[in-house]
Amino acid sequence: MQISRRLAHLLPGGDDGWHVHYRAQALAAAGEAVVPLTVGEPDARTDPAILDAMDRAARAGATGYAPVAGLPGLREAVAARVARRSGTATGRDNVLIVPGGQAGLFAAHLAALGPGQAGLIVDPFYATYPGTVRAAGGRAVTLAGRAEAGFAPDPARIVEAARVEGAGSLLVNSPGNPTGQVWPRATIEGIAAACAEAGLWLISDEVYETQVWEGEHLSPRALPGMAGRTLVVGSMSKSHAMTGSRIGWVVGPEAAVAAMADLATHTTYGVPGYIQQAALWALTEGGDALEARIAAPFRRRRALVQAALGPCPALRLLPIQGAMYALVDIRRTGLSGTAFAEALLAAKRIAVMPGESFGRAAAGHVRIALTAPDDVLGEALDRIARFAAAQAQAQAQDRAATAG
Ligand code: PLP
Repeated sequence: MQISRRLAHLLPGGDDGWHVHYRAQALAAAGEAVVPLTVGEPDARTDPAILDAMDRAARAGATGYAPVAGLPGLREAVAARVARRSGTATGRDNVLIVPGGQAGLFAAHLAALGPGQAGLIVDPFYATYPGTVRAAGGRAVTLAGRAEAGFAPDPARIVEAARVEGAGSLLVNSPGNPTGQVWPRATIEGIAAACAEAGLWLISDEVYETQVWEGEHLSPRALPGMAGRTLVVGSMSKSHAMTGSRIGWVVGPEAAVAAMADLATHTTYGVPGYIQQAALWALTEGGDALEARIAAPFRRRRALVQAALGPCPALRLLPIQGAMYALVDIRRTGLSGTAFAEALLAAKRIAVMPGESFGRAAAGHVRIALTAPDDVLGEALDRIARFAAAQAQAQAQDRAATAG
């Protein structure tokens, strides 16, 4: 039997750079000491106080079916948080609780796109974006981010691509993965205006909203006229180190939330009640102080990266304005991102992601996840700097030999 075209073509053919990650895992499984800086997962585990809340809720009986759209109290807590942080009126019916940001991205695209419509994504992008658009029955169309504009797309190109491709949505991500960029107000305003002009839904992936090191996070939903066409995806994976609990939300117009709740009835059937109650505890009792504690190591490690890689002439470090990644331009070594990552793993047993995994615009870069303890990361960064310097020197010698 044939599997459907939609699933058979979910992932593009060829190599997406994840082989470096899998090779690192295989080496580690074989007993080798590998420093894994590939995956965006906080190295800290979920806070014991959140686990206690989960345990209490489960033992008190919250192990049956939970309300599919989310516990009313949790929807209200998320609405209050969003209203407080964005200054935009938000009520319980604007919030759908979903099993993680990824499920939120999928639901948002299903809500936004008609069959075969294009979903615009910005290159470089988080690795699942094209497949998410395709899984929702859309065509993934990439818009090149402009390096000089923090990898944001040109608003005029958004309007043009929407018209030419027949697009229904644009997906954006600030603070960004893999870029580490936090787009300023003018950029967000330009994107929002383009979406309004082109009649697009704006899907705003804000899962790194609590990790802002420079500038300010602005949700496009807060801009005049945008609440009716914006779907904000949030998650507690990064903000609360709850990756495995699968808990997040989509915030949007009431009709869209009701439609996505119908979708949930036919797909996920919601999120376990004890997870939701733990999330409610984390958002209300844990509050901003808990979030700040979880974000703190990444702020610290950002400084480590700047100190270790900033002075290295073979590398160009992009400013790490937010999120938990450093995107590093390695083109002065003469290698592609993939070749650099492969060679670094082979020679130094350090695993980083090739920029090519995140689209064309990040080719010639590698992404370093700041997800190892400070001492391990610090040592790995020094080794990366030395490795890059040696590669650049070898390439200079090759050039001289060829010229001579
Ligand atoms: N969006 C971005 C930009 C991400 O980096 C990730 C995870 O790495 C997700 C969404 C999905 O996160 P989750 O489904 O764990 O909430």
